[in-house]
Amino acid sequence: MIYDVLIIGAGPAGMTAAIYARRAGKSVLVLEAKGYGGQIIKTPDIENYPVEPGISGYDFATRLYEQTKALGAEFVFERAEGIVDGNVKKVKTPEGEYGAKSVIIATGSESRPLGVEGETALIGRGVSYCATCDGNFFRNKAVAVVGGGNTALEDALYMADIAETVYLIHRRDSFRGEEATAELLRRRENVKILYNSTVTELIADRRLRQIVVTDKEGVKTTLDVRGLFVAVGRIPENRAFENVIELDGAGWASSGENCRTKTPGVFVAGDNRSKDVRQLVTATADGAVAATEALKYIASL
Ligand code: NAP
Repeated sequence: MIYDVLIIGAGPAGMTAAIYARRAGKSVLVLEAKGYGGQIIKTPDIENYPVEPGISGYDFATRLYEQTKALGAEFVFERAEGIVDGNVKKVKTPEGEYGAKSVIIATGSESRPLGVEGETALIGRGVSYCATCDGNFFRNKAVAVVGGGNTALEDALYMADIAETVYLIHRRDSFRGEEATAELLRRRENVKILYNSTVTELIADRRLRQIVVTDKEGVKTTLDVRGLFVAVGRIPENRAFENVIELDGAGWASSGENCRTKTPGVFVAGDNRSKDVRQLVTATADGAVAATEALKYIASL
């Protein structure tokens, strides 16, 4: 079967694109390497999406998935490993190949590692990239969160309700994330913010026991923590599609606001796209735009 629209990635951007394409009567296949939902699934409370403040990321993603399925989009849980361009575009997975008239790449991004020695070996033994997934393992213990963006601020706030002490470690003297969240953190007695500081060493036996933090004067402090939540940004998942999309210096997919790429019939939507604001609302907006552009492209064939 040749699908009208093949969407790679079942996050908010991909699923919104599927909704728009299905409502236009097009056949839609969504390929997803992991589970549906993407990054939003890690957010405990979504406070900034219109209409339903406080919904969890998991509930949001589940309702979106159910809505998309009910409209008749097909989901296949396989990793897209490449696209072969042509009149019919072929998307390859380890299991086989899927043909489509148009493709929307909505693959989002993955966690950036901190790059400290021993980090990878300690994943699941104290090092985590998802506070909402793993936070409960550190109830009443001391933990550290690294980063200065919204993810780090929100993770620190989330952990402040669970952990005994939360050290928030940021390499600058001001945050990149929202001031309102930073202010909530400053008011929490069990949150200690270490500015101008980086994590330079992990000390562990089988599990993480301590971290060494170095400030900009070179002064080292050893902190007893059982958990280290790394929230230092994201890496776009675009590399497999470099033959059909242009990437900027940092690996984000270049496109205009119309989500078109250098390849006619291939579009990008959501967090993997080069843009200024990466939010749930801009991801879903991208999904709508990319699907609308895909419909125009199909009509032009
Ligand atoms: P981000 O905004 O890119 O922030 C990454 C942070 O990590 C920056 O503060 C950066 O420092 C720091 N960093 C990077 N590499 C580091 C390293 N090797 N060592 C120490 N620190 C390092 O990433 P994010 O917080 O994951 O957010 C990604 C996007 O999602 C953003 O657009 C964010 O606004 C959005 N988001 C929104 C919400 C929300 O609206 N509720 C929630 C979560 C995320 P510098 O400041 O020095 O660069």
